[in-house]
Amino acid sequence: DSQFDHQAIRSQFPALQQQLGDNPLCYLDTAATSQKPQCVIDAMNHYYRLDNANVHRAAHQLAARATLQYEQVRAQVQGFINAASTQQVIFTHGTTESINMVAHGLTDLFKAGDVILVDSAAHHANIVPWQALAQRTGAKVIPIPLDANGCLNLSAYDALLTQVPKLVALSHVTNAMGTINPVKAMVAKANNVGAMTLIDGAQAVAHLNVDVQAIDCDYYVFSGHKMYGPTGVGILYGKLDALEKLTPMLTGGEMIKTVSFEGTSYTELPNRLEAGTPAISAVIGLGAAITFLSELPQALIHQHEQQLIGYLQQQLSQLSDISVYGVTPNNDNIGAVAFNLADEHHQDVGILLDQQGVAIRGGHHCAMPLMQSLQIKGCCRASIGIYSNQQDVDRFIHALTEVKSILL
Ligand code: PMP
Repeated sequence: DSQFDHQAIRSQFPALQQQLGDNPLCYLDTAATSQKPQCVIDAMNHYYRLDNANVHRAAHQLAARATLQYEQVRAQVQGFINAASTQQVIFTHGTTESINMVAHGLTDLFKAGDVILVDSAAHHANIVPWQALAQRTGAKVIPIPLDANGCLNLSAYDALLTQVPKLVALSHVTNAMGTINPVKAMVAKANNVGAMTLIDGAQAVAHLNVDVQAIDCDYYVFSGHKMYGPTGVGILYGKLDALEKLTPMLTGGEMIKTVSFEGTSYTELPNRLEAGTPAISAVIGLGAAITFLSELPQALIHQHEQQLIGYLQQQLSQLSDISVYGVTPNNDNIGAVAFNLADEHHQDVGILLDQQGVAIRGGHHCAMPLMQSLQIKGCCRASIGIYSNQQDVDRFIHALTEVKSILL
């Protein structure tokens, strides 16, 4: 922390300044949703106070201002993930909607027997839409198994590729354990067998520099609310031909060229996949979050987060009766650490930590197949963001030690 003023970053998050009873808040649930800096809250308020108008529709000045800001954020997102054009950036309401748009949009291209390979540590949002697609078409979903560390088994992946899958769906970083998948190499292999690829970047974009052209995937999806932006906005990035393939899941206003009862034609990308009034204020808030992130010293922030996760892992490993899941061989977990305290229920641990002001998440983390392969019902997850510091980890470890003395 000595290399940059970390406190100056942290102080921009009003929610982190609060007390919970006698304790200051210790927020270690960033993987569920990040806290928001004041500039994001201000940008959304400003839009509602002064610029509120629908986008794309009217000749008046408020509409022009709203539209300009909305489209400027599209360009910001393009730069943020290094997409080749703004046409390839679709605003959605979140990762879940983005994946559903792809799975629905590809329905006509799938037939009985087609294979969809799915990361078995994926979030349900990157499993269930593929199962539904399989149900509609007779395709089959095959999970890519995990190795003993809880990471994807890459030789099993190679073997599955000989089945010539039609699509491969991966997490970039898993939400339950913060494990990172070598998506670039995995996509290259999928491309070699002609499979389409979708990468769920919901847990990656806030922590890694994502370059969608370098990854070379067909689709890359994420949510604004996990990268210091608001809820209600997400992104569907796609290669142009991959987006052109999608039958719009939502039809209606904004996405048409002409409408008549004899027949309707759809407009071009990106609007073709953005039916209806979008979450304009949320898009503007996402733009403010990207501006905020881009003004920070990226390399130092990444280093800070990696050091903090390393410290968290090391401190946890010094406690007895703690099982940690999915520690990657190089200890390069991103953002989150998953653990259980002996046989104690994760919910009990979470509630007792909360009583000391420490916010973590307990549950199956929307990854029930992963819990199954780890042979647990659920676990606790402590997750960090750019604002987290060593004091948060120390408070968490101290509180967990208390919990141990209560429960064990
Ligand atoms: N995928 C991953 C890896 C996630 O962490 C999440 C959020 N927990 C989602 C998908 C779903 O995102 P959202 O709820 O914003 O649609």
